[in-house]
Amino acid sequence: MTTDADIAALDAADPLAGFRDAFDLPDGVIYLCGNSLGPPPRDVGERLTRVTADQWGAHLIRGWTEDDWIGLPRRVGDKIARLTGAAPGEVAIADSTSVNLFKLLAAASDLRPGRSTILSQADNFPTDLYIAQGLVGLSGDRLRLRTVPAGEIAAAIDEDTAVVMLSHVDYRTGALLDMAALSEAAHGAGALALWDIAHSAGALPVELNAAAADFAVGCGYKYLNGGPGAPAFLFVAKRHQEAARSPLSGWMGHAAPFDFAPDYRPAEGIGRFLCGTPVILAIAALEAGVDVALTADAQALRHKSQALGELFIARVEALCNDSGLALASPRSALLRGSQVCLTHPAGYPVMQVLIGRGVIGDFRAPDIMRFGFAPLYLRYTDIAEAARILAEVLATRAWDRPEYHRRAVVT
Ligand SMILES: *Cc1c(COP(=O)(O)O)cnc(C)c1O
Repeated sequence: MTTDADIAALDAADPLAGFRDAFDLPDGVIYLCGNSLGPPPRDVGERLTRVTADQWGAHLIRGWTEDDWIGLPRRVGDKIARLTGAAPGEVAIADSTSVNLFKLLAAASDLRPGRSTILSQADNFPTDLYIAQGLVGLSGDRLRLRTVPAGEIAAAIDEDTAVVMLSHVDYRTGALLDMAALSEAAHGAGALALWDIAHSAGALPVELNAAAADFAVGCGYKYLNGGPGAPAFLFVAKRHQEAARSPLSGWMGHAAPFDFAPDYRPAEGIGRFLCGTPVILAIAALEAGVDVALTADAQALRHKSQALGELFIARVEALCNDSGLALASPRSALLRGSQVCLTHPAGYPVMQVLIGRGVIGDFRAPDIMRFGFAPLYLRYTDIAEAARILAEVLATRAWDRPEYHRRAVVT
């Protein structure tokens, strides 16, 4: 087993070690939940103060022009494009992931009018399935949702498939899908590929254009550290931008919103996928997180995230023998996103005790404990310590008390 000295050496040699200082993390906490809500970048307060005082306060309504607030969704979108292998003009910040999915799923299925199937993985994040169900309901009999296990997606694509809608990384198990291969399979059958990269953007290299994705949505508050409820982003490949239409034809997606014309006319380019007025303060906060991620090398991030996961699994296997734990994530780091999931029959109370001891992961029903490994701010020593505390909680059955079994509303 790696010794404590080996682990300290890994931290000392970590090329990303300096990024920890870019975040405000409370003392005494090992934060393994950055896949649900990233921590605040250290300069986010100062940036918000500046936008509030120097722009909003000083310029009032003129900020839309003088500070180019109107261009902010596209400016920050271009930064996310750099992080996700997209081109300038292919990404915009807007709405939530769920709303963006609705817009793009509707647009994509309209591009395949002769086909009726939206194909997705059965274990997709529920909101993705709910959104598809809502769209199907609105479509009359035109669309249907078909779900199959992730491993059967390629075989299930057929001549009736309009859109293959997939999450790049499974939110529960961390299983990573092959974006290029599945997009190619979709295209081979004449279908379009829509990817949800909520659990991959900012944690691992995403190559939307190299993988020939047609559409994508992603989340601002997870690995991009944009803050609670941060606005989300959407990607529409250039080749679809002229034909694709947003079903939420709001004025901010109009070609000339300030003409106040009575009829909708879509803007050129990605701008047509905006709907209402952009949330300037929230986008400014998101930009702080995106700017940190932009200065990190994507391959170094991937390498470290895999190494953190490997270390955690090795430590848990060595320390938690016969404890009832099972690995719910793929064993190979190549097939995982940036998280490791363990099942345990008492997963919920075990996680409550861990959180009480400063190891913050989360729980997903029915029995999954999730541990996210955000490579920007975690240290190898944190991971070894988290595994040690987990082993202690299991060995002492510290979780076996009624107060740890009471479920909170948000798990
Ligand atoms: C986190 C996440 C979402 C979140 O959607 P919101 O509308 O931003 O709440 C959606 N899809 C996936 C796959 C996610 O991981």
